Amino acid sequence: MTLSFSELELVEPIQRALHAENYEHPTPIQAQAIPHLLAGRDLLGIAQTGTGKTAAFALPILQRLSANRVPAPRQSMRALVLTPTRELALQIAESFRAYGRHLGLRTAVIFGGVSQGPQVDALRRGIDILVATPGRLLDLYQQGHVRYDGVSVFVLDEADRMLDMGFIRDIRRIVPQLPKQRQSLLFSATMPDEINRLIGTLLKEPVRVEVTPAATTVERIDQRVMFVDTGNKRALLAALLGDQAIARALVFTRTKHGANRVAEGLAKSGIRAEAIHGNKSQSARQRALGNFRDGRTRVLVATDIAARGIDIDGITHVINFELPNVPESYVHRIGRTARAGADGIAISFCDHSEKGFLRDIEKVTRQKIAVAEHAFRAPAGQGANGHGGQPQSHNGNGHNGGHNGHAHRNGGHHGNGNGNGNGRGGEFANRRRRSRRGGGHGRPQGHAPHPHA
Ligand code: AMP
Repeated sequence: MTLSFSELELVEPIQRALHAENYEHPTPIQAQAIPHLLAGRDLLGIAQTGTGKTAAFALPILQRLSANRVPAPRQSMRALVLTPTRELALQIAESFRAYGRHLGLRTAVIFGGVSQGPQVDALRRGIDILVATPGRLLDLYQQGHVRYDGVSVFVLDEADRMLDMGFIRDIRRIVPQLPKQRQSLLFSATMPDEINRLIGTLLKEPVRVEVTPAATTVERIDQRVMFVDTGNKRALLAALLGDQAIARALVFTRTKHGANRVAEGLAKSGIRAEAIHGNKSQSARQRALGNFRDGRTRVLVATDIAARGIDIDGITHVINFELPNVPESYVHRIGRTARAGADGIAISFCDHSEKGFLRDIEKVTRQKIAVAEHAFRAPAGQGANGHGGQPQSHNGNGHNGGHNGHAHRNGGHHGNGNGNGNGRGGEFANRRRRSRRGGGHGRPQGHAPHPHA
């Protein structure tokens, strides 16, 4: 059943704005959540970025606020949206402004790392929609610049991320200040115990809407894993990125330092790359993002948190320099390359210590990730994955069981770990679903593939 936005009973000015955004049909979370939210229900949304969850909450909030035109009290807001990162805060506010462009409601954004003066000014005479990160909001509240008495709807976005980032204490301090009479929404991609407990204190008889983790997105992405020793990862990355056919690559590291090191290493190899992470100033992050978006930088190195919610079209490759220890993060990461219906390629480096993460990822995504050969394999006898037995299969369905069962020929073929020649592994630049899951049409590959094999 494909609904239209008009069937969701959204008012004409909102529909006009959606038309301008080229949204034709509601996404599943929008179709499921919007009617309940328009009716004033609380909501538990189990969904991640990329599902259209922002519009799922923004549209009904806009509609309800515009139907009930009361001014917000001074220093207060009528709708409060808390989200973990500045990038997300900016994007959410941008969405409210875009969808609400014909409604004349006022939206403001608050986050740390910039001067607070303009934020305090924006709040002073009251605001319809405030999107904030918890730390700065709490800080302004403690200084007496914020009141919550006007809040009629509260959204906690990316609750699991808030937990990861240590914001739950801030949330627990903010929530009791909110008026008891309010509509509350909580969105989370996963449901750790702590979030479950929070639900009890936050939501009243919530409607639960769950959209499965972007399985369709994952399906469109050609996923590969490259087993490689930690010490060879940088050389492998430089070799892959030496292939100019990789037009726009987002490289993920687990830590901020890692992101810097990888970007610097690439620069030394003559590959222009920028890093974004939480230690960078807001303006440096925005600049790096802008360069990447406009194609001035071909490679952006990011941590999960910094990349959260970043919505850039045309990313051809996601490269996991390190695997995330949370499987859902893997889905988030690789989903960056399949925006707007495009296919994409995701390559994950996996060293010995990361094999457990890989297993967890395969469990959550319910698919095996095909192993790709390259010239930087560990020397025989200390294979990155300790596989033994038979040669790898590249057809996407060729390895059974866990990764311990992977083949890794002893004394074999896989070079000296230093490799040579150009564009090692570069075949991935052009490959599009040559060997898909279940396709069975893969072929064995050489160990030092040609750039455009
Ligand atoms: P979100 O999950 O909220 O981060 O949204 C992911 C992306 O989907 C954003 O780029 C939105 O602009 C886009 N989007 C949201 N809803 C729709 C829709 N109904 N049709 C097309 N694109 C949408």
